[in-house]
Order: sequence, then structure tokens, then C-alpha cells
Amino acid sequence: MLSIDNLHASVEDKTIIKGLNLEVKPGEVHAIMGPNGAGKSTLGYVLSGREGYEVNEGAATLNGKDLLDLEVEERAREGLFLAFQYPVEIPGVSNMEFLKESVNALREHRGEEPLTAAEFLKKAKAACKQVNLPLDFLKRGVNEGFSGGEKKRNEIMQMILLEPSLCILDESDSGLDVDALQVVADGVNSQRDGQRSFIVVTHYQRLLDYIKPDFVHILADGKIVKSGDASLALEVEKSGYAFLGKAYEEAD
Ligand code: ADP
Ligand code: MG
Ligand code: MG
Repeated sequence: MLSIDNLHASVEDKTIIKGLNLEVKPGEVHAIMGPNGAGKSTLGYVLSGREGYEVNEGAATLNGKDLLDLEVEERAREGLFLAFQYPVEIPGVSNMEFLKESVNALREHRGEEPLTAAEFLKKAKAACKQVNLPLDFLKRGVNEGFSGGEKKRNEIMQMILLEPSLCILDESDSGLDVDALQVVADGVNSQRDGQRSFIVVTHYQRLLDYIKPDFVHILADGKIVKSGDASLALEVEKSGYAFLGKAYEEAD
């Protein structure tokens, strides 16, 4: 599914990702933890092709295609979903119109018939219900005046409707309360189907109580320095990042 090989990337001439390797197979859930400033969010941005993030070395393929060579929209069409990719407010465009357009663009790419307004509405209603958002939410402008919790629910609703093959969720800095945490976890768990893969970036071991990851990786100073199963997250919860050495003891 996703294969990252010796990735080096920089922002504003500052090298942040320094030789990162990661393999994600279909159906797997990978959690990425690590001290603040390690490069976790940067990794997500680089993979999604955000402007200003430069790849200096290495490769990344998604379903065998050179991911780094694709335009942002093409990455999405190849099935990549980055949860914080659509955080901008789009005044005058309703959530409903925006999502319907996005879903039908993906369907067209996959050679599927576009959903009719009625078909889309049915799916959107179900998704709203699942993330516990009132239906009139669909009529509001994209992210216009959404609260933090609503943005989070909306993000998960987008994920459900877009049916991506690889989802990257960055939960590091969002200050999730238990309620929102549960929405994220339920959303991920409901979309796990043995084919769809997830990379969940988190500071909170708590989230991983609800989303049982197949693998946990510790990202520090731009590299994955340790990988293990779910028990690695518990180890971090207990002892912090002291095992990384002096430089990280203070972080977070
Ligand atoms: P994490 O998500 O692991 O906390 P980030 O990926 O957000 O870390 O940041 C990694 C490092 O890159 C930090 O030192 C941060 O200050 C730096 N960084 C991130 N974005 C920029 C930017 N636009 N310009 C300069 N430095 C940046
Ligand atoms: Mg951070
Ligand atoms: Mg971050």
C-alpha cells in the first residue's frame, strides 16, 4: 500500500525528515508517537504534497505509484486521505456541496457512476448520524464557525464518505476531549475492513486504547527510531521518551 524509503524532507531549508522508512500494508493500522517537534505532522504534510514541503532524498510509493511525483489532487484520487487536509473555511460553499463534489470526483476516477443527489443525501445522513452531528450541519459553510469538536467530527464524516484507501490522522495537537477521542476511534474502527490502512499520529496512549494499532512507531528527530506492537505505546505512557536518550527527556 504505502512504502517510504529513506525519506528526507525539508521546510524552509530546514531538514525535518531525516531518513525515514515505513511500510504500511493493506488493512494495517500504524500509530506514530514521538516527542514534540519530531516531524510527525511534517511527515503527513510531505505525503499529502502540501506546498512548501520539499523532498530532498528518498522515495514514497502508494499502491506502486510514485506518490511524490503526484499533484495533491492526484494523491487524493489515489486514495490518500489526510484528515487535516481540508481545514480551511470555504465561505459560500456548503459542506454538502463540497463533499458531494469530492465524493463524485473520486468515483469518476474509479470509473464508478456519480451518486445522485438523493443517493448522496442518504449516505451523508448516515455519516452524520454516525459521528453524531445534526443534519443541518451539511447545510453550513465548509468549516465556517465550526468548534474544535465539530471540526473533528466533520473530519471523520469526510473520511467515511470519501472511502479512502489510506487515512492519515494527526491527533497530536488537537486537544481532544474524551468525547471527540471516541468519535475518532469509532470512525476509524468502523472503517477498518481488512483493506483500508491507517496511520494515526498521536500523543495520547489513550486513543490507542480505543484504536488497537497493529504497529507502533516512535518518530524522533525525523526518523523512526523504534517500532513495536501496541505494547510500545504503553511503555511510552509509563516511561516517556527517556529511552531515546538525554536529548528527548525534556520534550513533551
Ligand atoms: P511534530 O508534529 O512531531 O510535533 P512537526 O512536524 O510539527 O513536529 O515539526 C517538526 C519540526 O519542524 C519542528 O522543529 C518545527 O519547528 C519545524 N517546522 C515545522 N514547520 C515549519 C515551518 N513551516 N518552517 C520552519 N520550521 C518548521
Ligand atoms: Mg507538535
Ligand atoms: Mg504535530
